[in-house]
Amino acid sequence: MRAAANGERLAAILARIDGRGYRAYRDIEGCYDLGRFEVEIAHVQGDPYAPPSRVHGSIDLAAAGFAGAAAWPAAERLALTDFLGRALEAALARNGAREIEVDRFGQQVLARTVVRLHPERLEARLAVHLPAAGRRIKGHQAAEILTRRLPAVLAASLPRTALDAEALARHTAVVDDHRRLTEILAEREWIAFVADGSLLPRRGGHDDRPLRAAADAPVVAFESPPELAAEIELPHAGRVRGMAIPRGVTLFVGGGFHGKSTLLDALARGIYPHRPGDGRELVAADSATVKVRAEDGRAVTDTDISAFIGDLPYGRSTASFTTQNASGSTSQAANIIEALEAGARVLLLDEDTSATNFMIRDEPMRRLLRPGQEPIRPFLDRVRRLYADRGISSILVVGGSGEYFRVADRVIQMDRYQPVDVTPLARRIASAVATERRAAEGSAAQGGAAEGSAAGESAAGGRAGPASEAEEPFPLAGCPRRLALAAYRRRLGPKGVRVKAHGTRRIVVEREEVELGACEQLVSPSQTRTLGEILARLIEGRGGDALGAELHDGFSAAQLIAALDGEEAALLDRLTRFPRGDLAAVRPVEALAMLNRLRALQVSR
Ligand code: ADP
Ligand code: MG
Repeated sequence: MRAAANGERLAAILARIDGRGYRAYRDIEGCYDLGRFEVEIAHVQGDPYAPPSRVHGSIDLAAAGFAGAAAWPAAERLALTDFLGRALEAALARNGAREIEVDRFGQQVLARTVVRLHPERLEARLAVHLPAAGRRIKGHQAAEILTRRLPAVLAASLPRTALDAEALARHTAVVDDHRRLTEILAEREWIAFVADGSLLPRRGGHDDRPLRAAADAPVVAFESPPELAAEIELPHAGRVRGMAIPRGVTLFVGGGFHGKSTLLDALARGIYPHRPGDGRELVAADSATVKVRAEDGRAVTDTDISAFIGDLPYGRSTASFTTQNASGSTSQAANIIEALEAGARVLLLDEDTSATNFMIRDEPMRRLLRPGQEPIRPFLDRVRRLYADRGISSILVVGGSGEYFRVADRVIQMDRYQPVDVTPLARRIASAVATERRAAEGSAAQGGAAEGSAAGESAAGGRAGPASEAEEPFPLAGCPRRLALAAYRRRLGPKGVRVKAHGTRRIVVEREEVELGACEQLVSPSQTRTLGEILARLIEGRGGDALGAELHDGFSAAQLIAALDGEEAALLDRLTRFPRGDLAAVRPVEALAMLNRLRALQVSR
C-alpha cells in the first residue's frame, strides 16, 4: 500500500480546489487513510459528464471480522463477496447517496469484481460522480461525499459487526448447497435436479424475482413425479427430495400455459446459485448446459451445420456455412454446433423459441417432399444420434408434436404446473401410431404402384429419407475452427478498441452491434461488460494483456476455454488494465457465442 494521507488532507485539497475548473479534481487521485478504511481515488473522471470516477474502499480482513477468509473454500468466498456486495448496494440505497454507485445485483449469485477478497484485505469498488456546478468543482460537497458518506456506507456494509449474521449464514448455506448439488449431478450422472418445494415462476419476462401468489392464482410448488424422484443429502439443507433428470433425451409436454417454459428456464438458470428466497435455490443443471434457440438474422461464419442441414439450393455447401443473415433453422443449427464446439453437454430447446421446420417434419410433409427438396434434417431425426454418438443430452419442451414420443427416454407432462411422468402412455401411443403408419404405408404403396402416381413415389422417398437419416451417425467434431479478429484489429484507431456493453444482451464494437438476445443464460449487464472486455483484449492481440497475447494469431474454442480457466474473480481482474468493479463471471460458452456472432469474424481450419 502506498503511504496514505488522511481524511483532513483530502478535505483540505477539496477546499483548495473548490470553484476551480473540473480538471483540478485530478489533484485528489491517491490513497487516504480514513480511520478503519483506506480509500483509494484510483481514477478521476475528466469532466462531469464522463463515466464516474473510480474509488476503492478497503478494510483489513481481520479488522472486518473476516480473518482468514481469503483461504476459505471457493463457495464460501463467493457467498461472502456476493453478500457484502448486496449489503453495499442496500446501504447506498438507504443512504440516498446518489453520487455513489455500485454494481447491481440480481437473483443469481455470480463471481464479481465489486467486492474483492485479497489475502489481507477486503476491497469494495465503487463509482463516484464528483459534483460540479457547470464545470466548476463543488469541493465542499465532494468532501462530504468522500470523507463522510462513503466511509459511512462502507461501515454499514463491510464489517461483520454491521451485518445480519443469520442472513450471511443463510446466503453461504444456499451457495454451498448449490455447489454440492452440482457435484452430485456429476457423481450420479444426472443432468439436472429440481427440489420439491421449489418455486419456479417469475414476475415477468424482465423481472426475475419470484412470482407472488394472488388470491385467484396460487404459486404452485414443484413436486417430483415418483418415477423421477430421488433423495440427496446436502451439507446445509440436509435430506432433500426432488426430480433428478438422468442423461439422455427428456421431453416436457403438456397444454399451453401449464408451466413448461417456466420449468425449462429454471433449468437454464440452474447453472447459477440463487439468493435465498428466490425459489430456485435447489435447482441445478450441469454446468455445461446450453439453451439454444432460433435466431434468424444472425451472422454465421464457416460453421459445419451439415449434421442438420444438407446442401442448400444451388448446391451451396453447409459443411462450411457462412451467412450474414441466417434463417430460423440455419441459425438454430449453427447455435447447436457452436454450443457443442464450446463444450456443451446438455442442450435445452423450447418450442416457443425454436424454428418449427428445425424441430419436426410431419408425415404428410415427408410424403410431399422428395429427397433433395428439403435440406433440413429436423432435430427429431438427430436427437438420438446426438446422444448416442456425442453423449449430448437434450431436454425439450414440445407441446405441439407427439412425433418426439418415439425418440424420448422419458416424457413428462406438465399438468397445472405439476410434472407427471407419462412415459409408458407416450410409448404406447408412439408404437400404435407406428403400426397404423406401416399399415397405411402398405396400402399406399400398393395404390401408388397401381396408379403410378407422383404421390406414391414421394411417400416412398419420404419414408426412406428419415429412416436412413436417423441411422446416419452424428458427425464428431471435425477439424477445429480457429477464430481470428484481425479484421477488427486492422480497423483500430489511435484510441484503441471501442467496445461498449448495452444492458445484458447487446455489445457494440466500433460501429457493429452484436446482438446476444439468444444467449438466454446471460443474466446480468455485468456479465455482458465482461464479454466486452474479453472481446477488446482479443482484438488488441499482442498489444494487450496475457489473454490477447496468448491468442493473438487465431485460436480454437479449446484454447480460449483454457485461457479463461482459473479462479473467476481473479481472472476478471486480469481482463482489464485497471481494476473495474462492474464485471461478473461468464462461461467460455457465452464468450464463444459472442465471438461467433461477430460479422467480421475470420475462421480458418
Ligand atoms: P407453457 O410453456 O406450458 O405454455 P409457461 O411456463 O409459459 O407455460 O407458464 C404459463 C404461465 O403460468 C406463466 O405466466 C407462468 O408465470 C405461470 N406459472 C408457471 N409455473 C407456475 C407455477 N408453478 N405456479 C404458478 N404459476 C405458474
Ligand atoms: Mg411455453
